[in-house]
Amino acid sequence: MAIPLIPDCLIGSIYDLTPERLQARGIRLVLADLDNTLARYREKDPSEPLRLWKQGLEAAGIRVFIISNGRRPNRSGRFAQGLEVDYISHAGKPRAAAFHRALEQTGCPPEQALMVGDQIFTDIWGAHNGGVTAVLVRPVALDNWFRRLRYGVETPFRALCPNKEGF
Ligand SMILES: [Mg+2]
Repeated sequence: MAIPLIPDCLIGSIYDLTPERLQARGIRLVLADLDNTLARYREKDPSEPLRLWKQGLEAAGIRVFIISNGRRPNRSGRFAQGLEVDYISHAGKPRAAAFHRALEQTGCPPEQALMVGDQIFTDIWGAHNGGVTAVLVRPVALDNWFRRLRYGVETPFRALCPNKEGF
């Protein structure tokens, strides 16, 4: 049984999630946070490397699905459309509901899914509430004092992660 606030694994960036590594673990669905996981907070559209990453996964039969707590109108929708993936915004992480919806919508069993996100109290806790593997990614940018403070508060949870060697 996973400890709710302890990530199962730490990675440096989403690009550590390669098709080969995901396939080796039987993962068919990557649930991904948006802000500071796939892109910086103000980045409106997916970058070319991100689009290529998603295409590489898709070619290997692995789906990407955005689960964001973002409340800005159209932010998640525009980004997801640019990346050509499905999404849930206003997701209410760490509650399990959005995770259950995403699994149902994709027809993927929880053991074949993982969640990747940059925050302990939403992404990691939510992943475990939703019954999926929780992968903590280093935030894309710690560009204000609040995000740096939060990152500091999360340090003990990173320290307790049993697998810091990457995915
Ligand atoms: Mg985030």
